Amino acid sequence: MRVYNFSAGPSMLPMEVLQEAQKDFLNYDGSGMSVCEMSHRSKYYEAINNECIALLKELMGVPEGYSVILVQGGASTQFEAIPLNLLTGSGKADYVVTGNFAKKAYKEAIKYGDIAVAGSSEDKKFSYIPKNLTIRDDIDYLYICQNNTIFGTRYTKLPETKANLVADISSNILSEKMDVSKYSVLYAGAQKNLAPAGVTIVIMKDELVTDGMKICPTMLKWKTQVENNSLYNTPPCFPIYMAMLTLRHLKKLGGVEEMQKINEYKAGLLYDFIDNSSFFSNGVNKEDRSLMNVPFVTPNADLDAQFVKEASANGLVSLKGHRLVGGMRASIYNAMPVDGVKTLIDFMKKFELANK
Ligand SMILES: *Cc1c(COP(=O)(O)O)cnc(C)c1O
Repeated sequence: MRVYNFSAGPSMLPMEVLQEAQKDFLNYDGSGMSVCEMSHRSKYYEAINNECIALLKELMGVPEGYSVILVQGGASTQFEAIPLNLLTGSGKADYVVTGNFAKKAYKEAIKYGDIAVAGSSEDKKFSYIPKNLTIRDDIDYLYICQNNTIFGTRYTKLPETKANLVADISSNILSEKMDVSKYSVLYAGAQKNLAPAGVTIVIMKDELVTDGMKICPTMLKWKTQVENNSLYNTPPCFPIYMAMLTLRHLKKLGGVEEMQKINEYKAGLLYDFIDNSSFFSNGVNKEDRSLMNVPFVTPNADLDAQFVKEASANGLVSLKGHRLVGGMRASIYNAMPVDGVKTLIDFMKKFELANK
């Protein structure tokens, strides 16, 4: 039996994509081999690489003057790559600390330059997006984490800045419309909304494709992959192939705009139910709520544990909240069907009745 998997990542992939990959697993496109086995210099793989990048550009609306690269190391490796590529002017950058991942990014950056915190929501356990920022004039970039996977917040309005805006979109890539021209760098690990873990997408303005800091390692230098069409070394071929299938699927569904409508509908159902319940609650500032990650609690920790256990026995898995937050978290990425959310809400109703 397939379950509804509410994991924050790696997460569900569309059924159609899994089936397509299964169908072609042993013999891809008449090549007589699996994508897992083929040379990354073969014509088959080159076509996958190029289609994946082209579809990302098309579906995200990446304008002229930007490059898209596919790299390894997860989003976390970009925590270092960002300062190493970008601290080339004043050597200063400001970070908005809105959660665990933003903090980790900040902690990497301070090794390489003059880094300051422009704003933080740590005072209230990262339950909101700070709006009053202190941004220095001469920074090389301003850093934000747009959707905070662990705490369930997101930016609905970007901070005002003339500086290069760098955003971690690991947990909201392709889930809502984004005006890419407002950013200088966007990046995302693939395992939340796109593919199995192993590939990370980095999108940057061409003018930022430089040699970076003198100490920047070749493999962390974006220019290395930009100049080699993401084929400088062996790429994670299979995750990139899966990403391509997910992107094709998303295009068929109507693209990001259509996906956003579905995501708003799904998240709306869940938040409305929680807000109207006297048993379940969500502590996130309403205007800053994530469409992708919905943390919630029952009246006490024992009931939370019971909820997670019983939900799991009913085919609703990975609902345990992050250890930093406790309680529950439903991650409802693109691939979570509306029915999955409705089934979760039905289960929550029953649980509430039985335990109130
Ligand atoms: C999951 C996640 C990360 C870490 O991604 P890895 O690919 O595991 O390094 C970073 N930022 C955000 C917002 C995430 O959700």
